[in-house]
Amino acid sequence: MTTEKEKWMKTSVALPELPWAKDALAPVISANTIDFHYGKHHKAYVDKTLELIKGTEYEHMTVEEIGKATFGKPEKKVLFNNAMQIWNHNYYWKCLAPAGKVKPSERLTKRIEKDFGSWEEFRKQLVQAGMTQFGSGWAWVVLDNGKLSVFKTPNAEDAWNNSHQPVLTLDVWEHAYYLDYQNKRQAYLEAVIDNLVNWDYMEAQIFA
Ligand code: MN
Repeated sequence: MTTEKEKWMKTSVALPELPWAKDALAPVISANTIDFHYGKHHKAYVDKTLELIKGTEYEHMTVEEIGKATFGKPEKKVLFNNAMQIWNHNYYWKCLAPAGKVKPSERLTKRIEKDFGSWEEFRKQLVQAGMTQFGSGWAWVVLDNGKLSVFKTPNAEDAWNNSHQPVLTLDVWEHAYYLDYQNKRQAYLEAVIDNLVNWDYMEAQIFA
């Protein structure tokens, strides 16, 4: 069986299809936000990466291979940032589902209660990870040594190049929420956690 991790380790440098209609997350995330976020920001990362790799040793690599080859190399920072923003956005879209579509299963709920103490504590820690990421970045739920915990990264950095296995991410760049929530990052995070997380996708990665 191909695990979720094996699937996401083969990302091509291209703009993927969204897993839902662009207005499917409204009103929590509006079609207008998706238009800009996917159609402009995500697309720009793809276009820039294609431009940067053309005719270079990176040209035929997957996004993950480019990420690994450029991670921690200051002279390759622009390529790393653009490539990993492709990865992070592909992954973020898969972590979301239309409101009411996916409820956390009993198995996932029990696992979260075991590793965090309670659902409320899990929610609090995840919101806090997003709130304490100063400036742009990403809030993550990761699975390390069999235990779930929260993690955060600045700018384009992902979890797995930082030695953490992701099972969920939330984009905390202002472009993810500013049109709908202005400066209220916490309101965005709470609304997404309470309504839009694709818990089935997270569960599939935990129990793969
Ligand atoms: Mn983004």
